Amino acid sequence: MKKKDLDRFKERLLNQKQQILHSSEKIRAEQMNIEREDLPDEIDQASSELSKSLMLRLNDRERAILPKIERALEKIGRGEYGICENCESEIGLSRLEVRPFALLCIKCKEEEEHKEKLYANS
Ligand SMILES: [Zn+2]
Repeated sequence: MKKKDLDRFKERLLNQKQQILHSSEKIRAEQMNIEREDLPDEIDQASSELSKSLMLRLNDRERAILPKIERALEKIGRGEYGICENCESEIGLSRLEVRPFALLCIKCKEEEEHKEKLYANS
């Protein structure tokens, strides 16, 4: 990979990491506010429950991405970025443009998802 591309991905990963850390702090603060609030009627309670579950879901997704970002950044440091962890072929720029934190090439990723689906159905 060209250094120019590597620097660009590194910057995107660092930005994304900052954003997640920032938003998870914000979410935590908002959750604490909701828990402290008095909820006088059922409508308020329902909308509060809804936003709470939305925030929890967002939190889960971000929690799942964060370690991948960390790992991708480590790989940049070791000069291994953009190489599939499974088959050691190149992940490809177009895939990295969409997911700079991708650790597997599209082929291995699809196989992994296929296995996960089999496991979930069994
Ligand atoms: Zn692969």
